[in-house]
Amino acid sequence: MATLNLSKLLKVFGRDVRAVDEIDLQIEHGEMVSLLGPSGCGKTTTLRLVAGFLDPDGGAIRVDGSEVSRVGWVLPPERRSMSMIFQSYAVWPHKTVAQNVGYGLKFRSVTAQEAEKKVRAILSVVKMEHLAGRYPAELSGGQQQRVALARALVVEPSILLLDEPLSNLDAGLREEMRFEIRRLHDEFHITSIYVTHDQSEAMVTSDRICVMNHGRIEQVGKAEEIYNSPRTRFVAEFIGVTNCVEGSLAEPGLFAAGEGLKLKTSGAAAPGRKQVASIRPHRIRIAASSSAGEDGLNVLDGEVTQGYFFGNMVDYRVRVKGLPAPLRVEGDPDQVFPAGSRVRLLIDPRAVVLVQD
Ligand code: ADP
Ligand code: MG
Repeated sequence: MATLNLSKLLKVFGRDVRAVDEIDLQIEHGEMVSLLGPSGCGKTTTLRLVAGFLDPDGGAIRVDGSEVSRVGWVLPPERRSMSMIFQSYAVWPHKTVAQNVGYGLKFRSVTAQEAEKKVRAILSVVKMEHLAGRYPAELSGGQQQRVALARALVVEPSILLLDEPLSNLDAGLREEMRFEIRRLHDEFHITSIYVTHDQSEAMVTSDRICVMNHGRIEQVGKAEEIYNSPRTRFVAEFIGVTNCVEGSLAEPGLFAAGEGLKLKTSGAAAPGRKQVASIRPHRIRIAASSSAGEDGLNVLDGEVTQGYFFGNMVDYRVRVKGLPAPLRVEGDPDQVFPAGSRVRLLIDPRAVVLVQD
């Protein structure tokens, strides 16, 4: 295990692509942190800098307080005690499962007998013991990814780096493997960075999530913090589904959107005059237009324009006077309001979260 520290880390490609733009991040012993963000936001570049495959143009990387990368000097990857897992598995087709997994041990001072024992043990951990003699072509995608995991773990790295390791798997397997990766983390507690553009993967696997955009870190926190208290519009919209409404503060605690529509909010104002309120669809209660309001709640009247039945909920679009776009609202599937219904929306002021534009 090890702590990992990135400080003012910068990587520029060409003349002006700031792929990693002076990021600061501290990862504790045994912690798994995910880098989450859209394609091109700098996740892989960050990981390759940490692994030592790229040299930084600014800042430094420290492991347990010692510099491993700075401008002009990089400790080579093979001396970092880090393992990296890629999206493409990168297993050798002409080696068996056991040979693939044992390969990394060849370069360490481990006897053949010890190596065999370690390979067997780690294959059992990833539930691949019975397939030790198979070749990759005889394995499913999920099994190949387990081989890649075993190969990364068998060398007992102090830091594990995973770059979209599940992207090549189909949806069902991808979901199963998320829990598997977290289970392995709970067993070995290796300090890890998990790169993904999939919020559910980040939420399941990681202790903390670091949301990236344009080479910068927008917010770092536990899944609940990021989801419930996003600081920026980008974070609010990237994690889960939300309604972002633009406006300004009429007075403290009162958000004014468009013409004459005011919403009580318990959130603190974001910097600047312009305010954006993020309201999650499941925090909006949809009721018949005749229903009574409730003390303390915001009450909006609107009309259902569309409703999509999903079994566990109905995904509505509700037009509200004074708002430029319909609100997305999640309703109870036991009471469906058809398109054209007049409805009443009830919103707790705590669900009106002010974020930075
Ligand atoms: P992500 O992994 O988040 O999708 P990357 O770290 O791969 O993003 O890329 C970040 C940015 O850096 C992108 O704009 C990408 O085009 C650019 N980039 C990445 N690698 C190189 C490279 N070797 N040469 C030039 N530009 C690159
Ligand atoms: Mg990438």
